[in-house]
Amino acid sequence: MADNPQPRIQGRPTWLNIDLAAIVHNFHVAQKASGRQTVVYPVIKADGYGLGAIPIAKALAAAGAEGFCVALVEEAVALRKAGITQTLVVLSGFIPGLEQAIIDYHLQPVVFNLATAQQLSQCRREDQPAIPIHVKIDTGMGRVGFHPAKISTLLEEIDHLPGVRLVGILSHLACADELTGDSTSDQLAIFSNLINQIGQRDQSLRYSLANSAGLLGHPATRLDWTRPGILLYGASPFFPERTWQEEGLQPVVSWITHILAIREVPAGTPLGYGHDFVTQGASRIALLPVGYADGYSRQMQNRAQVLLCEQRAPVVGRISMDLTLVDVTAIPAATIGSRVTLLGKDGPEFIGIEEMASWMGTIPYETICRLSARVPRYYLPKASSTPPALD
Ligand SMILES: *Cc1c(COP(=O)(O)O)cnc(C)c1O
Repeated sequence: MADNPQPRIQGRPTWLNIDLAAIVHNFHVAQKASGRQTVVYPVIKADGYGLGAIPIAKALAAAGAEGFCVALVEEAVALRKAGITQTLVVLSGFIPGLEQAIIDYHLQPVVFNLATAQQLSQCRREDQPAIPIHVKIDTGMGRVGFHPAKISTLLEEIDHLPGVRLVGILSHLACADELTGDSTSDQLAIFSNLINQIGQRDQSLRYSLANSAGLLGHPATRLDWTRPGILLYGASPFFPERTWQEEGLQPVVSWITHILAIREVPAGTPLGYGHDFVTQGASRIALLPVGYADGYSRQMQNRAQVLLCEQRAPVVGRISMDLTLVDVTAIPAATIGSRVTLLGKDGPEFIGIEEMASWMGTIPYETICRLSARVPRYYLPKASSTPPALD
């Protein structure tokens, strides 16, 4: 037995390569567009839009990021536990009970109502430093935030809360992904008015309005600090009007799988659940070990393509939970074990998150957020081109 070497067990032949160098490049694009007066706090909520908040935060911190935005207290705590020491702004508020985590992990929550600020004030012990908070103003998004007319009273009330220190005021743009129309300039006008009004009593506050679309498309919204998300991950917020190439961005994610099996079938063969697809002629059909449980959405039926031997091949039949069929009749070189690109480049061909989003009937944000935890992630520059080993 001892002479028989243990066969090397390989990991899943389906994985994501995430190019941290490309994310850093895209961060530099954001910094350049923001200008010298404006700080960029990358948005890495929802586990870095599905791509991995911790490795992304580490790469961006090494590249000089001074702070990050997340949606949830839990997301910020996970970053702190991973050793991230930069400023962490929690954008989407918190429910009572999380005050202690905010204090202990030195987070900067965004506050939408006075009760929240009061709770923070009550939870802080006297020997602890004041808790920095940002206040959210609703300038037209219509979800949360204080009415701009209430700002003066609000500032006074916060002034009287011991242990809470107002450090910034922010608002969120509703329609910045439209390059024309009045909505963004209306929101900016309301916010600028408010800045002028407050500026007379407090010079130290920092203002923020711009997401990716504001930053790239509406220069006047850049203010003190910007909060870009989607551009970091290589998509233009203005797609399809503008592409990632036009923004000078680099694609970040490649999704690789390999052919698990191939079958030759005659004309008239129904394939997969529901028999939605029936072969027109004699066909070679490849089976891929990937499905909607991985985030390869069922909505892409009849639309999705994959890259194989530098060519496009159509997905046929319904996408199931773990398996997907591809017609490789036109690609004779395709064989069991052939590398298949679901996202990314293969020779001259490229499938980006914008194109996949259009097949899914959604936006690139959702396409990457839905990449499920079952798909292993590997981070460039240590990219993996062969199936990773299972330890
Ligand atoms: C998610 C989010 C952002 C980032 O938006 P992108 O469109 O991805 O740039 C900025 N600000 C707030 C408040 C957000 O919730």
